[in-house]
Amino acid sequence: MIVRDLVNTDILKLTKRKSVALIPVGSIEQHGPHLPVSTDSDIVSHIARQVSDKNGFLLLPTIQYGVSFEHHPFFNMSVSTRTLQKILVELCVSLSKNHIDTVIILNGHHGNQDALKKLQDKVSKMVRVKQRIFVYSYWHFMKRKFDHAGFVETSIMLAISDKVLMKKAKKGLIPDNLSRNELNRLNKKANKSFISVTKNGVWGDPTLATVKDGKAILSEIISNIVKESQTCLTGTG
Ligand SMILES: [Zn+2]
Repeated sequence: MIVRDLVNTDILKLTKRKSVALIPVGSIEQHGPHLPVSTDSDIVSHIARQVSDKNGFLLLPTIQYGVSFEHHPFFNMSVSTRTLQKILVELCVSLSKNHIDTVIILNGHHGNQDALKKLQDKVSKMVRVKQRIFVYSYWHFMKRKFDHAGFVETSIMLAISDKVLMKKAKKGLIPDNLSRNELNRLNKKANKSFISVTKNGVWGDPTLATVKDGKAILSEIISNIVKESQTCLTGTG
């Protein structure tokens, strides 16, 4: 159920203690010369929609802005970790006042992860009925390695969007054959300044991306999140 499309009376019928709300969190940031800045928000919205449909969750509007300062001087519209965390805490409290006691937060951007820590602790100080909060980052639900505007993200975008400019796609940093130490060092540096590490804002190689791969990766992610959320909700995990 897409909450933003519903009228008040329909929502009131759906908001029961056992309802589950899903909040997708994305970002607005550069994704190389070939993908739109909305890529993370687009991908996480798509996955959230599918997971909500399959599990009967209440799908809330995507938070489009995230913590993307690391992409400076390339384009990013960023809020601080503290601000994003505060928004999420207040949304969870608001859901609690609407009698929703289970919330899943689905993250689509690496830089948001710090804002998603300890939400449960912060919210529980502010609500009367205990609320359960589960936090997932979608790339933990696929076998392939996470990239940025590389093969994975570009393939997924080819599968869900008509905004991909494949002719402009260029290889970026290819982190193959690196020692674990070297990769850790690069990751740390990229978390501070993504452009100084990748030069063109791309981590990976988007040039071989295909719709078919995108569909396969998406279906793996979606079915794993569907399973994981069912397991968490029934408490058997
Ligand atoms: Zn991305």
